[in-house]
Amino acid sequence: SSRVPDWLSRQRHSEQLAIAFENETWSYKKLYERVGRLAGFFAAHGVQKGDRVALLARHGLVFAASVHSFIQLEAVLVPLNTRLAAEELAWQIQDAGIRLLVYDDEHRSLAMRALAICRTNGVALLSPIELDGVHWDEQVEPIYHDAIELSAIQCMIYTSGTTGRPKAARISYGNHLFGALGSALRLGVQANDRWLTPLPLFHVGGQSVLLRSVIYGTAALIQAKFDPLQVNSAIYNKGATLVSVVPAMLFRMLAEQEMPYPSTLRNVLLGGGPAPRTLLETCLAKGVPVSQSYGLTEANSQVATLSLNESLRKLGSSGQALAFTEICIMGKDGPLPPYQEGEIALRGPTIFAGYDHNPVANEQAFRDGWFYTGDIGYVDDEEYLYVLDRRADLILSGGENVYPAEVEAVLLAHQDILEAGVSGMSDEHFGQVPFAAIKVKPGSVVDPAEVQAFCRERLAGYKVPRKIVIVDELPRNASGKLLRRELSKWL
Ligand code: AMP
Ligand code: MG
Ligand code: MG
Repeated sequence: SSRVPDWLSRQRHSEQLAIAFENETWSYKKLYERVGRLAGFFAAHGVQKGDRVALLARHGLVFAASVHSFIQLEAVLVPLNTRLAAEELAWQIQDAGIRLLVYDDEHRSLAMRALAICRTNGVALLSPIELDGVHWDEQVEPIYHDAIELSAIQCMIYTSGTTGRPKAARISYGNHLFGALGSALRLGVQANDRWLTPLPLFHVGGQSVLLRSVIYGTAALIQAKFDPLQVNSAIYNKGATLVSVVPAMLFRMLAEQEMPYPSTLRNVLLGGGPAPRTLLETCLAKGVPVSQSYGLTEANSQVATLSLNESLRKLGSSGQALAFTEICIMGKDGPLPPYQEGEIALRGPTIFAGYDHNPVANEQAFRDGWFYTGDIGYVDDEEYLYVLDRRADLILSGGENVYPAEVEAVLLAHQDILEAGVSGMSDEHFGQVPFAAIKVKPGSVVDPAEVQAFCRERLAGYKVPRKIVIVDELPRNASGKLLRRELSKWL
């Protein structure tokens, strides 16, 4: 086991900006003081080392300070997705063995309903704590720990689960440290860095920005929720140097862009799902410094990231693996050579510590020390990764593989289409053929036959959706990921 000095304590004398939300800014000194008192407050309410604590709160400084104070207490944080229903939350609270629930006034009723379900099921917790944002002013002794045990678990994050029940991914401090270092070696770290994330803080993408900033001693800019105008404003006016977004966010930011982004913005990290080529090309044309990135919960976010100077030469690639992560493309009989498509497998100290009390899932996911992601991709002869799609969503049509993401990207390039989802429907002749559900831009009218003609100009015949249905909303899970399997309800 390895211990390193506490990351936040190392910054405690610093007047540098640590974190900003709306118009409030905290230096590291202030963050350190408040985190210590908040930890004292939680301890006074019964939180002990090793306890599993759930957090159900809006994004803001209280949320961020709570994350850091559970680290001081060496409690295991389970950040809850505020978009879930009470039943789903109750299930996670029970599954995770939560000892205490912390919530804020905005989520009081949701928290109470979830706890009532737990009680009905005979599950007892400590009295929940309602956060009101002033607990760091209370007269409690601050609590700090002095070292971080790298093998200890910092948090458990439920994977968004496009299949089956969500699973709790156990993320260690070592996962954070190696992720932070690997990312820094790819993106660089500058003293004036301000890493903006409109991503949910209850997912790895958002949370890792909080932890990495403290490891680096640089600033995290957080936002209540994604709003393209607010993200752009932070880029124009608040000195954001790095921004983490998913493709749907970047589309909207560019649509609202009033002028070119300032040179302070050095990298837009684009991940979370396939990046349509049209989006990458628009960024190149507009001089937006974009880096496609591949990541997942089980790797505590970033796995591979394309360097900025390679975005043209390797357009569409998610880049090479970060320094401490290995990528292997696996076929039925083991590792595959370059350009052959297989399952993306990962190894190294950024890979999570397994799913909590789920031996079946762990046995399926880990084989010979490799974590199998369930994503299909290939590497080129320079080890650049190309992510194709999720294995479970692959459409097998007359012996050909159709990747829904590729067809969706073409549909999204159509001027009247706002959102698109592609899945397979059964076909007597080909086994399966693709079909599409599309959401049309407000005020636009589209003719499915015209959309098919549009696809036929850009895709091989077997990839063209056999059927196109126009819908009001595409089915998405609580984290906004498309549920392709549910598209069949429109057939
Ligand atoms: P999650 O399961 O919520 O942790 O999200 C991770 C999943 O998002 C991955 O397993 C991929 O399916 C998808 N994903 C993330 N980055 C990319 C990318 N650059 N290209 C394609 N898919 C991606
Ligand atoms: Mg996943
Ligand atoms: Mg994700």
